[in-house]
Amino acid sequence: MLTIPAHTAIIGGGPGGLTLARLLQQRGFNVTVYERDETPDARQQGATLDLHEDSGLKALKAAGLIDEFLKHYRPGADKIKVTDETAAVLFSDHDEPGEEDISSPYFRPEIDRGPLRNILVNSLKPVPFNGTASL
Ligand SMILES: Cc1cc2nc3c(=O)[nH]c(=O)nc-3n(C[C@H](O)[C@H](O)[C@H](O)COP(=O)(O)OP(=O)(O)OC[C@H]3O[C@@H](n4cnc5c(N)ncnc54)[C@H](O)[C@@H]3O)c2cc1C
Repeated sequence: MLTIPAHTAIIGGGPGGLTLARLLQQRGFNVTVYERDETPDARQQGATLDLHEDSGLKALKAAGLIDEFLKHYRPGADKIKVTDETAAVLFSDHDEPGEEDISSPYFRPEIDRGPLRNILVNSLKPVPFNGTASL
């Protein structure tokens, strides 16, 4: 059995650290996330992520955040269009129906990293760290 200290420090408030913090808080642990960014808006969070059934979506479901995710993902952002140098379309799947069924293994919804971070940050209980870990 994995034993985790009652007060856990997580270094880095990216998707991995914040999801872990949420999962541990749900199980009653005190968690402090240490993040290099001074605020959630300190920098552009970067490009969109597509989440898969067996990884990102699985983690969000376990964290009880799939409804929040579905409010903020970008339907159709996984569509592709390839053009040549004259903008003539060589390939496009924009006219094909996309997969939008959350229960489908082929559903790979895209979400920008900023909104994803906000969902995760807002899901955490703000527990002020008083400088002493309670073990
Ligand atoms: C180009 C690219 C495309 C990708 N596309 C996808 C995709 O489509 N779907 C997908 O699921 N994954 C994708 N990934 C992978 C995804 O980005 C990572 O799996 C994910 O970001 C890992 O999360 P993380 O929290 O472990 O690390 P990171 O996202 O790297 O977050 C680390 C956090 O720690 C902070 N930090 C760093 N050092 C310190 C320190 N010393 N003290 C305090 N804080 C610190 C940083 O500021 C940052 O906020 C992609 C990755 C790349 C590079």
